[in-house]
Amino acid sequence: MKIAILKERRDGETRVAATPESVKKLIAAGHDIQIEKDAGASASMPDSQYEAVGAKLGTLAATLKGADAVFAVRAPDAETLAKLPKGCLLVGQLEPHGDKARAKAFAEAGVNALAMEFTPRITRAQAMDALSSQSNLAGYRAVIEASQIYRRAFPMMMTAAGTIAAAKVFVMGAGVAGLQAIATARRLGAVVTATDVRPAAKEQVASLGAKFVAVEDEEFKAAETAGGYAKEMSKEYQAKQAELVASHIARQDVVVTTALIPGRPAPKLITKAMVEAMKPGSVIVDLAAPMGGNCELTKADEIVEHKGVSIAGFSNLPGRLAADASSLYARNLVNLTPLLVGEDGALAPHWDDEIIIGMTLTRDGKVVHETLK
Ligand code: NAD
Repeated sequence: MKIAILKERRDGETRVAATPESVKKLIAAGHDIQIEKDAGASASMPDSQYEAVGAKLGTLAATLKGADAVFAVRAPDAETLAKLPKGCLLVGQLEPHGDKARAKAFAEAGVNALAMEFTPRITRAQAMDALSSQSNLAGYRAVIEASQIYRRAFPMMMTAAGTIAAAKVFVMGAGVAGLQAIATARRLGAVVTATDVRPAAKEQVASLGAKFVAVEDEEFKAAETAGGYAKEMSKEYQAKQAELVASHIARQDVVVTTALIPGRPAPKLITKAMVEAMKPGSVIVDLAAPMGGNCELTKADEIVEHKGVSIAGFSNLPGRLAADASSLYARNLVNLTPLLVGEDGALAPHWDDEIIIGMTLTRDGKVVHETLK
């Protein structure tokens, strides 16, 4: 199959959907790879490296010519979408949750669209799961960003001039990103606590050497869906959780929030009053910024300062590690590719496979995903 890789056009997007390593693997599997010039430049992957492994570099039009599939990091803008060959397969992080208009646009463009965010959370699909690969890096980077903004050290330091106390880091939401944030903060020497609404998180937090802080009532015991995600919690639970968080947060130096509910606005876990109870110099890094933020004061892509507390709302943390994020994402796509072709290597998506069923938004000009019809 002919696979096209375009330069990402979304503002601030630094990642690319194929790396020289992934191109080499795809070519070895018999595919033709066409890459738009400079597609990997912002991820430190120059054109020469792609050429060296056998990719064809060209303009946007040349790259799309005859493409069976387009691998992308983000959904193409309307102008680019209109240029995609009819009937081609578009695979990317298409932000599909509840966005019927976007799915309709794919259908009208005659594009068969697969959303990486809808990769089912089953063992067989783990190597294709872009939410996990990107969240892992985001969790790491959130702590690194926090350490840059925080004007103190993370580890306890004993010096001749006296001792510096270790930073207290609180991680809210202990999923993929949160667990990596905990591990990173621990490596930097912080004293770490974490919270979640899913009981499974408790043991995972403890195994990383952090203390679990949560309202563990009957609702907590049933907060995980069959898909492994959190449910939206009741008003009563939210009130109990807010009370617990308010007293805990006032004693923290750094808070990393990662709490998400798929397809819903991010739960508001930190109020303005809670921020005001924190010490000046404290830092909040809110990974939920693109979904509205876990903190009331978060603004996407800004570092807001409120009464001495910095609240950072980076909306594309994986993009701040463009080379590694691209490598993992490109491997996710390589691992998915066998489900997109027949035995002869030609485009023939396994439409009846549960992974492909889960990911398919549009097919043959129609919106087919059950959540978007
Ligand atoms: P996510 O990004 O949807 O949410 C992040 C975390 O926020 C979750 O742990 C969630 O429980 C938590 N959260 C939601 N509401 C909250 C609230 N009000 N207060 C506190 N925390 C709240 O989740 P995720 O990181 O993508 O992963 C969720 C689970 O899925 C994890 O257990 C992960 O191990 C599992 N998973 C399984 C597979 C697989 O089997 N293939 C792949 C990836 C992840």
